[in-house]
Amino acid sequence: MLVRFHGAAGEVTGSCHEVEANGHRLLLDCGMIQGSEADEARNAEPFAFEAGKIDAVVLSHAHIDHCGRLPLLVRRGFRGRIHTQAATADLLKVMLEDAASLAEMDAERDNRHRSEGRSDHQPLFTREDVARVMKQVQGHPYDVPLEILPGVTLVLRDAGHILGSASVEIRADEASGTRRLVFSGDLGPNGTPILRDPTPVPQADLLLMESTYGGRTHRDRADTIVELGEIFAKAKRDGGNVLIPAFAVGRSQELLYWFARHYDDWGLAAWQIFLDSPMAAKVTEVYDRHEELFDEDARRVWRDKPNPFRLPNLHFTADVSASQAINRVQSGAIIIAGSGMCNGGRIRHHLRHGLPNPRNHVVFVGYQAQGTLGRRLVDGAERVRIFGEEVLVRAQRHTVGGLSAHTDQNGLIAWATHIGGRPPIVLVHGEDDARDALALRLRQKTGAEVLLARPEMQRKV
Ligand SMILES: [Zn+2]
Repeated sequence: MLVRFHGAAGEVTGSCHEVEANGHRLLLDCGMIQGSEADEARNAEPFAFEAGKIDAVVLSHAHIDHCGRLPLLVRRGFRGRIHTQAATADLLKVMLEDAASLAEMDAERDNRHRSEGRSDHQPLFTREDVARVMKQVQGHPYDVPLEILPGVTLVLRDAGHILGSASVEIRADEASGTRRLVFSGDLGPNGTPILRDPTPVPQADLLLMESTYGGRTHRDRADTIVELGEIFAKAKRDGGNVLIPAFAVGRSQELLYWFARHYDDWGLAAWQIFLDSPMAAKVTEVYDRHEELFDEDARRVWRDKPNPFRLPNLHFTADVSASQAINRVQSGAIIIAGSGMCNGGRIRHHLRHGLPNPRNHVVFVGYQAQGTLGRRLVDGAERVRIFGEEVLVRAQRHTVGGLSAHTDQNGLIAWATHIGGRPPIVLVHGEDDARDALALRLRQKTGAEVLLARPEMQRKV
């Protein structure tokens, strides 16, 4: 077996690794590059391989930086199967359709403002491309070995990151014996609400591992939950609203889980809760259909508490008029809306209305990247621009850590050291600082060879 690194090799996004196994060609993930405009322009460029020569794709999970270029792969001639966990197959449709709609809308708007004679702005892919992708997708359960190509076996194991997320094991029967390649996918921290902890992998000959938070240790989740409760209590006394920018996948469902679990002690019956994101509503439906993947704690909450996805005062606002109506609520509303970093989506409307009021509270529950509106607010800006308008920021701001969907340095090391065979480790999906820090600790801890993936680097398994 041989692995070639194409994406997320020296950066976090654009996950894509090519595997040669038993004379077949596989891709692990086919993700979109996200970041600045120049970075994102790279998505339209040709692949470093011929799409028509790939025999199969294995997808670790449905985040767009892992699946977002599949429509291009299919458009450029890939005709094989896309193997993934069954819940990921369901989420994939939601994620890709949303990305295609946004791309189509952006292109349309651009073309309207374009002067005569200039070439049309084409969307990166369309909903038709997505429909073609979905015909090639095959959903599988965790932990069941599947022969996906002659002499090539796949095992998906729970990675505890988002619903359906998997660590991938590829086994190839070679003349010298069976060789095992393990790709961590994105790994969640132990104790992530709703989801099970990552399933340990028994054995590997080469390990590709994510390293997003390879240089950090997270705050304790329990402290974060206490802090959330205190914020709701204060907001109640102040008589304002609570705005929570949140990612549609994972974080939104996690918040609803905590709301159900602390429904009484946080006095949530006195609030109206809005999940104001059509995409988060669709993702929540997928979570709802896959209770078989929930962990013990979640089963207990579903049995003993109000159903997190059907809280009596929870409103899913699908259409724009219902979303706008929320702005007339002056107090007692908890509004969860995307995007998670406030650089798009409905949260911007709520911020424009809510930021000038000192009785309101804005709670940041996720990472805010440099250059986003969320980051400016977290950094304490007193004025921000939203829809070209200057908005005075008088609302109270809170940043709560400890809800990350990625495990930290200790979690990564614990997961890696569990694997038998002391395999060499190649670090992917991380900035260089994080990878350097993690590589150092891993070498000390395991004595294994640890490498940082670089674009077009290759490695024998
Ligand atoms: Zn992810």
